[in-house]
Amino acid sequence: MPNDKTCIYCPQSEPFRFCGVEHVIPQGFGRFGSGTPTLNCVCDDCNTYFGRELDQLLTRDTYEGISRYSRGQFSSQARSQKRVRLAFADPAEAGAFQGLRVALDGTTGQLMPFTVQFHIHNFRTGKDEVYFLSRIAGLTLPEADYGKPGADGEKGTWRCKILAPSREAYDAMVEALQSSGIAFRPGTPFQNPWAAETAAPSSLLVEITSEIEKPHKRAIAKILMNFVAFHLGRDEALRPRWDFLRCYVRNAAGEIKARLSQRPFWTGQETDELRLRDDSINVRIENLDGNIVGAIQFYNLYTYEMILVENESLGTAQEIGRRYTPDELPLEGEKRPV
Ligand SMILES: [Zn+2]
Repeated sequence: MPNDKTCIYCPQSEPFRFCGVEHVIPQGFGRFGSGTPTLNCVCDDCNTYFGRELDQLLTRDTYEGISRYSRGQFSSQARSQKRVRLAFADPAEAGAFQGLRVALDGTTGQLMPFTVQFHIHNFRTGKDEVYFLSRIAGLTLPEADYGKPGADGEKGTWRCKILAPSREAYDAMVEALQSSGIAFRPGTPFQNPWAAETAAPSSLLVEITSEIEKPHKRAIAKILMNFVAFHLGRDEALRPRWDFLRCYVRNAAGEIKARLSQRPFWTGQETDELRLRDDSINVRIENLDGNIVGAIQFYNLYTYEMILVENESLGTAQEIGRRYTPDELPLEGEKRPV
């Protein structure tokens, strides 16, 4: 039998290694009154590891994470996004600055001042690539992918531009390119469309691009594993049927089966209070297609569905759903007989 202190993610069972509490929903997404779900069965090593590797990524560098800013949930640090790419989308508003890569300040939810960037079209992939100053050294632009620069009065086929907040930054980029052997020659003179005399547009359409890769999926899977431990208890969470999930979350072992679901979140479980609210996080575990499946939806965006345990099922009372709205007590979804 496990003693009082056994970590649900690793074999740790020394009582003095359990000083902190693990938040089922990462703290960045808010507190839920006196009903904020926390766990005492995650050891300090795992807790620290999750905070650094998974929670920060989910709360700062995913679509869900930056969406929380518009719900008034901010970060303690500004820090620009690296995985999620935000770019000015609408050519009518952004003009020559279409495609400009920007970042959100996590402490305010506002755009950060942009930094100088070199854009070049890759004909092989059909996409524009963006390079910041720190990535210019050693950059090579094979002709087969990018075309060639103009030379000897002939126009080249490169499709490139430098976007800079100041003349100095622009010149620094030109110099960096040239010292890397990239024959960039300024064509159009530098201009800042939002110089002091012209008002910056009051709103700009921003395109958000991100990929849902393993660390992102593990961060979501961790919430589901925590949710299982919180609602079904530590003894259930320690059962071998959760081994795959715990190893996936803690050690990145294996690959979980996940998909984006189109189902309305509260089908069969909804009460009037649970219906669509775009400031909430919905979490559910249930039996589906012969498996135990977990689902999470942030702010009515996407619903992630993950197969947590294959070919197993929960008892009816163990299927459970909750809606978490910051500063409110969690609301329970009821599974109704179908
Ligand atoms: Zn642990």
